[in-house]
Amino acid sequence: MLDAHIHLTHAPETLFPDDMYYFTNAASPDEWSSILKLSSPHVMPFLGIHPECGSGPIDDIGWEEHLKALHAQAVSQQIGIGECGIDQRYYTSFSKSEQLRLLIRQIRTAIATDSPLCVHLVHATESFLTVMADHPLSVPWIMHGFTGSVQTARRMLDLHGYISLSPSLMRSEHKMHDLLRFLPTDRILIESDYPYTYIPQQWQEYSYEQLLFSWYQRVAEAQAIDTDRLIDIVLTNGTIFTNKQTHRR
Ligand SMILES: [Zn+2]
Repeated sequence: MLDAHIHLTHAPETLFPDDMYYFTNAASPDEWSSILKLSSPHVMPFLGIHPECGSGPIDDIGWEEHLKALHAQAVSQQIGIGECGIDQRYYTSFSKSEQLRLLIRQIRTAIATDSPLCVHLVHATESFLTVMADHPLSVPWIMHGFTGSVQTARRMLDLHGYISLSPSLMRSEHKMHDLLRFLPTDRILIESDYPYTYIPQQWQEYSYEQLLFSWYQRVAEAQAIDTDRLIDIVLTNGTIFTNKQTHRR
């Protein structure tokens, strides 16, 4: 299985099977070196600055140069940029215009280093779509934890986004049903966002691996396909980001 959005460094006690595939994301530059150490054919690191961590002295530490240098060093391993984005919940400590500026800088870094991008978005869809339309990416990007409407999903697909689905979609059966009927399978990813996973009541006792597998099962059921088939589809979609051939486990 591929977990297309996770924070491996935020859950050191958890058992993450090493035969799975992970796109592991940073929230701030102080995590980058520990995330890079995990880099392997099974773990693709995403280095970026989450809007929650955007305030403070980040602009003073030359993060763009740092990121470009890390990219130049990583010859054999693909590195992504993320997670980055816009989140209305943090506007009081980090204003919307500052968030937009930080996002644009990360998009430009993704363009300059030819890297995939992972996006976090809460209640700022129109601003985000405007930014993406103004900064067309030559690389694929991931809309992580998407819980929006079919109309918004369509606009993201038009901008060459991949839609990554987390269990938080289960909060609304109706929305989940509509979205899963609409989304083309070649643009879907599946994620846990662990350890920030929304865990429904009936899954409370599950291990990390059981959680992710149950989520795959749930999505496969809603799409009326076999779970193994969905696992294969998501692994194949994942190779668009890694540029590497993955094999099903
Ligand atoms: Zn995350």
